[in-house]
Amino acid sequence: MERAVVLDGRALAVKIKKSLKQELISLKQKGVIPSVVAIQVGKDAASYVYLKQQKKSCEEIGITYELKELPQNISEKDLLKEIEKINSDTKVTGIILQMPLPKALDARKIQIAIAPRKDIEGVHPYNMGMLVYGTSKIAPPTAEAAIELLKSSGVELKGKEVTIVGRSAIVGKPIALLLLKNKPTSPTPTICHSVTKDMAFHTKRADILIVAVGKAHLIKGDMIKKGAIVIDVGINPAPEALKRFGKKIVGDVDFDEAKKLASFISPVPGGVGPLTVAMFLRNIVECSKNIDKI
Ligand code: NAD
Repeated sequence: MERAVVLDGRALAVKIKKSLKQELISLKQKGVIPSVVAIQVGKDAASYVYLKQQKKSCEEIGITYELKELPQNISEKDLLKEIEKINSDTKVTGIILQMPLPKALDARKIQIAIAPRKDIEGVHPYNMGMLVYGTSKIAPPTAEAAIELLKSSGVELKGKEVTIVGRSAIVGKPIALLLLKNKPTSPTPTICHSVTKDMAFHTKRADILIVAVGKAHLIKGDMIKKGAIVIDVGINPAPEALKRFGKKIVGDVDFDEAKKLASFISPVPGGVGPLTVAMFLRNIVECSKNIDKI
């Protein structure tokens, strides 16, 4: 039986981080010092683990990382003031706004207050707009990671049918826009979502299938075209993954079934996840270069 080539996100992430480390050395020689402030409003156990990992990844390659913890009951006005202060701090080159925010705050309004030149998560309407124009330098890291992993297959994208399952603003939609960025080599993306009528029709005709939903093993073998490239963005952790599949974490694709059909496949864990961290670091480095612009 044929077996798909597994796209190794961890190995690619190590390579990218190594080259970012080199780039940082030459940036520092030119006086550019990337420095990140992460804003955490209130206490959240899951965010804490994530923030600790972020700090570690930044410091590993020489990026200064500061965590700014703000009280759960901070008013919108005070939070906006804090962001304004960080926006105008010339030493800070990148800002992370840890989600979710407390319900009393208008998350969109707060996100928009972040200076686009410091928006390392690529969520500001300015950066989203540049993505639509096809001239963006910053895109949401997970979307960039999915594209980077797809490109690592070495397969030509031009002329390919791509089905993306999931239409979120930080994953599904930016993936489609990134695929359309380079006009002469663009494949043809289709986006499926929660109310798509016949999802299997779209997934089965896809030369490239990218899944970003958050539903464990939503995609079964019989929904995949033979020889397709399958990129699984989904993260479905314990307890569900443990209870249903005996694993700590599974993706949106039934990996064991898919690998018998696909030509290339990304695993979970070890695929898009580690590369997302690398893309996040790449965005930090990119933002540090345009600190005098916009
Ligand atoms: P989201 O909840 O914002 O969006 C999910 C999308 O899936 C929605 O657009 C919805 O329309 C679609 N959807 C829901 N049920 C569906 C169904 N039955 N059929 C088809 N489409 C359906 O989620 P998100 O932030 O885009 O994240 C998606 C997944 O990617 C999650 O598992 C998340 O944990 C994971 N993720 C991974 C990384 C990473 O670093 N690897 C980063 C971010 C998100």
